[in-house]
Formats: sequence, structure tokens, C-alpha cells
Amino acid sequence: MSLDALESARYSRHLLLSEIGAEGQQKLKAARVLIVGAGGLGSPAALYLAAAGIGRLGIIDGDRVDVSNLQRQVLFDTTDVGASKAERAAVRLRALNPLIEVRAHALELTAGNAAQIFADYDLVLDGSDRLTTRYLVNDACVLLGKALVSAAIHRFEGQAMSYVPSQSPCYRCLFSDASEGVVPNCATAGVLGVLPGLMGTLQATEAIKLITGIGTPLLGRLMTYDALSMRFSEFRFRRREDCAVCGAQPTITALHDKAAPEPGDPPLALRRYSGAELLELLRRSPWSLTLVDVREPYEFAAGHMPGSLHIPLGDLPRRMGELRERSGIVFICAAGVRSEHAATLAAAAGLTELAHLEGGLLGLAGAD
Ligand SMILES: [Zn+2]
Repeated sequence: MSLDALESARYSRHLLLSEIGAEGQQKLKAARVLIVGAGGLGSPAALYLAAAGIGRLGIIDGDRVDVSNLQRQVLFDTTDVGASKAERAAVRLRALNPLIEVRAHALELTAGNAAQIFADYDLVLDGSDRLTTRYLVNDACVLLGKALVSAAIHRFEGQAMSYVPSQSPCYRCLFSDASEGVVPNCATAGVLGVLPGLMGTLQATEAIKLITGIGTPLLGRLMTYDALSMRFSEFRFRRREDCAVCGAQPTITALHDKAAPEPGDPPLALRRYSGAELLELLRRSPWSLTLVDVREPYEFAAGHMPGSLHIPLGDLPRRMGELRERSGIVFICAAGVRSEHAATLAAAAGLTELAHLEGGLLGLAGAD
């Protein structure tokens, strides 16, 4: 795919980079990228990938623009409220770069339509805010052999990772255990508007690197970002032999809508204590437990359980070694979201006998 005069002019700042040049720009032109979710993450990712000259850009989103989206979903403006996100996004992206093909998929991604939609793309950028969709996208990419750049945001914190078939571990290797409702989305937990701007731009960067083959992508590395402390951290992880979708004997060999475990599924390695259960354990055998408070320093300073170790979630990956010799680890946070995340990270790092306080300290305040 050679570049014509219009393209050479438009992409001249890429052509000046020896790492990209005409060859890299031609790879971008030949690339077919699907963005799942035209939301906070999808907005900046789509704008930058369209500007970068991705040959075919697909946007899948079944929602309509709501006024509360405008705080962070920069693809849209006030006149778009009520319109289809996928359709409006396509109009905006075609205006930005008429030299590329933009496809709008104004529907929800499901297990039933994923294979058909993914077939027209080589790389998927996941910007969905639903956990079940995140697992569906991961499983579809593993089963269909597509590269994936995944990201998630929560309040002031973001995380990102990439996946390349047969080269890297998948999202499920890292987060094998999760259930809908445990991790709140932006609508229930709130989010700093600029946070998805940064994380979505990181996803676009990863996509461009994977397509052009430059740099070191986030393969087997979970990058986390904390906007409050303005700190990036990195957590390395490996492919799990027992991963349900990319492992040696996968149990997921076809796509299902309910990719996250259901109540009644086999018991998980991670224990969940209610406030009352934890207080009872502390009364009986306080020495058998290691309480690890993963909240931010200002929260810890405002009050914490006696004897608890303080490791903010963002610091956990690099401080995991401090927990290796400990037993009976119970992660604690305010509401039980970060503590479950911490336990999942610890499990992926090979720690065992993990638990977290369900409902967090806020729930504990109500227990007796
Ligand atoms: Zn896996």
C-alpha cells in the first residue's frame, strides 16, 4: 500500500520519524482496528487513531450520547446529546480524516455477534466500562487470534495492558476471578474526566506500536496509573497454564455472554470475609491474620484497623515481596473494590491463602 501525495502531506510528521517512516505509515494504512465502546477511553483512542491514518477504523457502541458523558467523552459535543454514539463518532472521525474508512456498529457487542464483527479487524481496542464485555472481548480475541489493547478506569485510577495471540498472557491470566457488580463503573463510582483521556491515548499508542512493530508493548505487563499521586506503576505477569481461555486445557472454547463467574460456580481461591466474620476471627486468633490496608495514605491517616500493614494499591506490585512471608493475608479498603483487586494481583503474583474484606471498612462500621 503506497502513499499518495495527500497522505504524504497529512502524515509528514510520522514520515519524519525513522522508526515509522513510509513503511510504518503504510502498515497503519493497511491496519484494521475495532474500538469497543465510544466512551471515555474510546473517544481519545478513536480520534488519535483516525488522525494517525489507520486504514479501517470500526466503532461499536449501542448507546446514545447522554449529557453526563460530555465531561470526558471528547468525541461528542452538546448538540450530539440523544444521538447514536457510534454514528456520531463516525461522522466526527470522517471529518477529521476523510482518507480512512470508518465503520459504525450501532449495537451492543454480544457473544452471538462478536465473531462476525471481529472478522473484519486485526486489532481490538477495548474501551468498554462493563466487566462482562471486557471478558467477552478478551475471550473473543484469544479464540479468534486478534491482538487486543485493554484498559480500565476507576475514579482516579487506570490500568492498561496489551495482548498478542501466542506471544503473551491474556486478560484472564491476570484477572481470572471477577463478577459483575463488584467493580463499579463510572456511572456508579464516578471518574475524573481527564483520566480516560490519558488511558485511551495510551491505548492508541500501544495500538500504533503493535501495528508498526516498534518499541516494547505492554505484553505480560499491567500498567497502572494513579492520577492523585501522579504515579505510574507496572506489574509483570505470566501466562497461566490453567487459564480458562488461553491455558493448556481451556474450558472456554466458545463465546458466552456471561463470561464472568456466576454465583454457584466452583469456589474461588480468594476468600471473602464479611465484617462480622473478620471481627470474629480477630477476636479468636488475631496473630493468624495479616491485615493489609490498600487505601491511599490520606485515607489510612484518617483511621485504620489496629496492627494493619499499609500498602496503597498502586504500590502493591513493587511491594509484593513484603507479603511473601506472611500468612492469612486479608486485604482491606474502603468499600471492598480495591481490596478485591489487590487480592487478585497477589494471587497472580503467586501468593496463596488470600482474602479480602467484602464491603470494606464502610461495611465493617455497620457490623458488630
Ligand atoms: Zn489467559
